[in-house]
Amino acid sequence: MLFCLTDAYPEAYERHYAFMLEGLAEVAADLRERGIRFAVVRGEAPGPIVAASRQAGCVVTDCGYTRLLRLWRQRLGEQAPVAVFEVEGEVVVPSKLLTDRHDSVAATFRPRLARLVKQYLVDVVAHPVSIKSLELDPLLVLGSNDTPAVLLDLDAGVQSVLGALSVDRSVPRVCAGGDAADEALRGGAREAKRHLQRFFSSAEGVAEPAIEDYAVKRNNMCLRKQSHLSPYLHFGHISVVAVALQAQAFAASHPRHERNVHVFWDELVIRREFAVHFVLKHPKDYDIPRCLPAWALAGLREHEGDTRPRIYTAEQMEKGKTDDAYWNAAQLEMVITGKMHNYLRMYWAKQVIKWTQSVDQAYAFVLHQNNKWELDGRGPNGFAGVAWCFGHADTPFPDRPIYGPVRCMTASGLEKKFEKSSIERYVKRILALRKEVKGKLPAPLAFARLSAVSNFFQRTGPHTPAAAITAGVLPLSPSAFSAFLPRIPAP
Ligand SMILES: Cc1cc2nc3c(=O)[nH]c(=O)nc-3n(C[C@H](O)[C@H](O)[C@H](O)COP(=O)(O)OP(=O)(O)OC[C@H]3O[C@@H](n4cnc5c(N)ncnc54)[C@H](O)[C@@H]3O)c2cc1C
Repeated sequence: MLFCLTDAYPEAYERHYAFMLEGLAEVAADLRERGIRFAVVRGEAPGPIVAASRQAGCVVTDCGYTRLLRLWRQRLGEQAPVAVFEVEGEVVVPSKLLTDRHDSVAATFRPRLARLVKQYLVDVVAHPVSIKSLELDPLLVLGSNDTPAVLLDLDAGVQSVLGALSVDRSVPRVCAGGDAADEALRGGAREAKRHLQRFFSSAEGVAEPAIEDYAVKRNNMCLRKQSHLSPYLHFGHISVVAVALQAQAFAASHPRHERNVHVFWDELVIRREFAVHFVLKHPKDYDIPRCLPAWALAGLREHEGDTRPRIYTAEQMEKGKTDDAYWNAAQLEMVITGKMHNYLRMYWAKQVIKWTQSVDQAYAFVLHQNNKWELDGRGPNGFAGVAWCFGHADTPFPDRPIYGPVRCMTASGLEKKFEKSSIERYVKRILALRKEVKGKLPAPLAFARLSAVSNFFQRTGPHTPAAAITAGVLPLSPSAFSAFLPRIPAP
């Protein structure tokens, strides 16, 4: 089995590579036990895989939804001399069965998916391997190209592999847990299972499993009611099918938790697969405002001239230096722990609309921050989640300044929904966390400027550097920018 690792995956930082490698090290050990040789080769996909395919009967790859992942697979299909099979393990119901129609709201998507779930919600059986490959030399398989393949030695440890890569280190590994957990989130299937266990069974000394009251209390940022599975699902460290089956079994044996499981299921299966549907139905613009419903985009644009209470720079916001203590805490939670609480993600994204002059600026900032700091970022859920905050899959609200018909969220609304004292407790907890990790936080923002530009270009296509600068992404010289030109063809 071959894993192709590029040091320059767009918007991936040391934080994301570390988490991914923690998972890969476990995969290597588990496969070794089954007699399967697992090699991680450093290089840009699909090159090394095409090279290996010359000695293979066929190639089986996993599935991907975002542009670069689609492009890699498309090229693999074009260049490999053998059949290439794509196996879709990221969702319960194969996404192609639902793309015959475009659902713009979850209400119409839900029943279509629900009809198919039973057929596909089946456990995967690990068959014994009859021909072991532990003795196989990956270098021989990869063949002798002009540039020899570089294999990464996972046995040397994650830190050592990480050190050998030239990845962007401006977002360090997470070193503390916020809502996510008491400890920092670490990657790997074992950690994923631990979170799953915690969610569905009673921890020592605690009478109820974490899913208790999920239906009504998951939105409260003080109660730690979420499963914390999103980074593991994102990196494939746990399968959505395994989680869904466990939820089903739990509901059967704990009928009084039926409502909690139902709501969890709706997030895990319906909302998550609806996000995949969104990305597949907007292949060219899932990451720019053009993906928004016409009423939302037109409404936001109409109000771009409205007076804003304040305009913050990207730098002020990234450092959590606005005059909104709740927002700052949410931003810091994401920067420090790699996972912002779900409810706050909505509040956090929507505030940026009133602090920036245009929908393009607000959208670019929010999405870039989500992708940069969140461990679960850079996937369909992130693209759909950000789009939702700007009107996707929502209904128009009465027109109001700045937001037009797009639903807005306010600090006073937060205080009404949760007790003010409980939000303040959350803020205190995050501030204490900041103290705890002082010195381990990155020195922002010299690099953040450059990456913001790189990100902007990647998402908006072939602009001139001047366009990025005029768009107010950040004041950079064209020469500084050119180093960050993306290698992905524009849509
Ligand atoms: C602005 C914004 C950005 C977001 N960015 C991301 C992102 O980059 N990656 C990401 O996985 N989720 C994202 N979400 C959705 C949601 O916030 C996270 O999935 C959730 O907070 C993850 O925490 P958890 O696993 O503990 O959630 P739980 O409440 O335990 O939910 C279980 C699983 O259900 C799925 N899920 C939960 N809520 C949603 C949702 N609203 N939409 C789709 N699937 C959902 C996730 O896979 C999650 O792991 C975003 C939401 C918003 C509003």
